[in-house]
Amino acid sequence: MTGAVEQSKSWFERATAATPGGVNSPVRAFAAVGGTPRFMVRGEGAYLWDADGSRYVDLVSSWGPMILGHAHPEVVRAARDAASSGLSFGTPTTGEVELAEEIIRRVEPVEQVRLVNSGTEATMSAIRLARGFTGRSKIIKFAGCYHGHVDALLAQAGSGVATLGLPTTPGVTGASAADTLVLPYNDIEAVRAAFADNPGSIAAVITEAAAGNMGAVAPHDGFNAALRDLAHENGALLIMDEVMTGFRVSAAGWYGREGVAGDLYTFGKVMSGGLPAAAFGGRADVMERLAPTGPVYQAGTLSGNPVAVAAGLTTLRLADDATYRALDTHARRLGDLLGRALSAEGVAHTVAYAGNLVSVFFTENPVTDYAGAAAAQTWRFAPFFHALLAAGIYPPPSAFEAWFVNAAMDDAAFEAIEAALPAAARAAAAAERP
Ligand code: PLP
Repeated sequence: MTGAVEQSKSWFERATAATPGGVNSPVRAFAAVGGTPRFMVRGEGAYLWDADGSRYVDLVSSWGPMILGHAHPEVVRAARDAASSGLSFGTPTTGEVELAEEIIRRVEPVEQVRLVNSGTEATMSAIRLARGFTGRSKIIKFAGCYHGHVDALLAQAGSGVATLGLPTTPGVTGASAADTLVLPYNDIEAVRAAFADNPGSIAAVITEAAAGNMGAVAPHDGFNAALRDLAHENGALLIMDEVMTGFRVSAAGWYGREGVAGDLYTFGKVMSGGLPAAAFGGRADVMERLAPTGPVYQAGTLSGNPVAVAAGLTTLRLADDATYRALDTHARRLGDLLGRALSAEGVAHTVAYAGNLVSVFFTENPVTDYAGAAAAQTWRFAPFFHALLAAGIYPPPSAFEAWFVNAAMDDAAFEAIEAALPAAARAAAAAERP
């Protein structure tokens, strides 16, 4: 059991005075589950420690990047070595070439890569490039998919936008939202109709290669292939957002599982090793439209930062077949434990997977889109979450987020989860609809 939260409470008071909501990314504030966000001071392997000294089995893994677990000695050493040679040069470096080559080697449809600093920057740049390449303005995205906080992509987004139940975001102008067509995920007829209704004006379809930001919702068989075909028949590009799935659900991300090639890809999280780095890439004829070879401008003072590149490259080099087998095994083991405990208490639920992304929906109906995710009994989530937290398990603090396993999880971590789950399942069963 975890004990006092006095230190986290006191830090949260200071944080809320200094920073809106006390956090630098909304879901961290526990708004959807209530209570005091834990201020973490240390991570090692499968565990995190908070400012009060409590230890947690981490099922968030920094929202995806930490596939090897926290503070992997070789990743830390690579970052430390890079840092001691200089923190940033603002020139080309050898490491960024090696990282780009590693991404190209792993994801066959990616012929060229540009490094950026966040997944948001990657998707923002990819849609600008798609618009520049096609000379068109409209973008199709899917409800419940999150592509970062890009103005044009926040409409009916998943992740924190779904967690906080925000229908729209003030500050996004009508003009930047007007070119975004939002369609239901997994509904290929809606995509066909959108192309028919907007002839010659859709630049790209952007989709999470497998959705992880409304909970884990895998694409129906053939959905991504049909997106590619419809996009190409209509002169548009397919942007596969693999910021979450990339280098996590297989060595080549969702592409490695499914083999449907996008024209452009976005990456982040795992390829950063936990430091701020991300990338977009794809067909060379499209990527070459970027400045300085082409007219589409895109730049960044810290892009390709040598410390982030060293951490990312080392993470990718260490992530071998055994790592991906471990991630898949751990995801199934976690999902089985979740399912068994909730079934034992008679709680209606579905354990959903998209590769090794896992989530729990409090409904027995299969969830295939955002409407289905939102229709679940999400009010059961907060008591479920808090019972786990009190027992030293750290799940994502939102019913709309995937749970991220890491390869460092050992039997002791799973035993702790198993021991915590019966009380959490009872709390979920006892929850009352507000
Ligand atoms: N795209 C997807 C699929 C994501 O899951 C995220 C973040 O969770 C992003 C883009 C944005 O990445 P970042 O938070 O690094 O800006």
